[in-house]
Amino acid sequence: MNSVSIFRPASQSLRNTSGIYLDHHSTTPVDQRVAEVVMRAMVEDFGNANSIDHTYGEAGRHLIERASFHVAQLVNCDDADVHFTSGSTEAIRLAIAHAVGVADGRPLRIGLSRVEHPAVLDTAARAERLGLARLIWIDVGTDAQLDMASLQEALKDGIDLLCIMAANNEVGTIYPLSEIFGLAEAGGALMLVDATQAAGRVPIDLAETPVEYLILSSHKIYGPKGVGALISSTYDASQVHGLAATHDATPNVPGIAGMGEACRLMAEEGLTDNRRTAEMRDTLQSMLIAKLPELVVNASQANRLPHSLHISIPGVPNDLVVQRLRGRVAVSTGAACMSGAQSASHVLQAMGLSQEIQNGALRIGLGRFTTQDDITLAAAEIEAAIIDVKSALKGSSDD
Ligand code: PLP
Repeated sequence: MNSVSIFRPASQSLRNTSGIYLDHHSTTPVDQRVAEVVMRAMVEDFGNANSIDHTYGEAGRHLIERASFHVAQLVNCDDADVHFTSGSTEAIRLAIAHAVGVADGRPLRIGLSRVEHPAVLDTAARAERLGLARLIWIDVGTDAQLDMASLQEALKDGIDLLCIMAANNEVGTIYPLSEIFGLAEAGGALMLVDATQAAGRVPIDLAETPVEYLILSSHKIYGPKGVGALISSTYDASQVHGLAATHDATPNVPGIAGMGEACRLMAEEGLTDNRRTAEMRDTLQSMLIAKLPELVVNASQANRLPHSLHISIPGVPNDLVVQRLRGRVAVSTGAACMSGAQSASHVLQAMGLSQEIQNGALRIGLGRFTTQDDITLAAAEIEAAIIDVKSALKGSSDD
């Protein structure tokens, strides 16, 4: 078969009729190099990886092995510990259901921070409703950082499974994984670490912090959607609580191959990407502060993801600003599952931020293909949008 050629735009610029894309926490564009690997796995190496009778199947199996290697390299674990899933949500459900499945019959004591992703919160809450778990909450401070005293107290009372994300998907706060792992280990708790946003942006080394379950998603790191991984040396599908199928479904080889390539690129280029995005993020922050002195930067600035900027303009409703930016700059009011829904953010609430700060919150996420020109233009657009909304509000209150 001839080699695969795919539609290739002149560059991977993210400035098109939908505007400048600054919502990389929600999802990232697939890197062209990843897309080529996916395409090849769809049209050339399309064999069913479960069919071992011929070389088509073998080629599919080989692609999965290669992807496992690259995923494992990114987080420094054994290839055999990589279990591919349909994304982080499924990986989280499987991990919690596995922990329930291997528990000794008592409800599993799940410790979890109040700022975990809904995939963790909802699964844990469901386990509790079914009488399979008891939830123990860990507080965070106004900077979204974990309250270590609250964690130590909870560990003293007894936790079986501690769920702490590596970095927050809304405000970008990075959690001190090795310190938390040390405390959990001393307290006899296993850990589930949701590294969906952190992978490739924060060093994660499972040889140093061998947590029980690590969660990854491909579409946050320039890979395709619908693929993720549960990394665990003890995970066994037959021990998952409930009626989950034990039959091995046909693997999503193109997606898995794409996730592998995305991890390979992250391992190779992540450091450079992170330095670039952090610099541009800092520039954007300074430009906005210079124009909008009332702007508040939320969460810890010293300990945040390199592509994250979370701000509030007190008294200026974020939904109006986002509406005004539609087609110009894509930013969000909060997490993807919440934005547009006008529901309060559980993260900002847990941080104890004032209603004004919560209502004026904007999440900005830069990415691999963001340019300095994008930042200059976005700063001007965001400033104009905020000024417009402010004067419209003033006008209506003067009426
Ligand atoms: N965990 C975190 C921290 C996330 O940001 C997300 C997605 O936004 C998820 C889990 C769910 O990931 P997926 O879309 O792969 O199911």
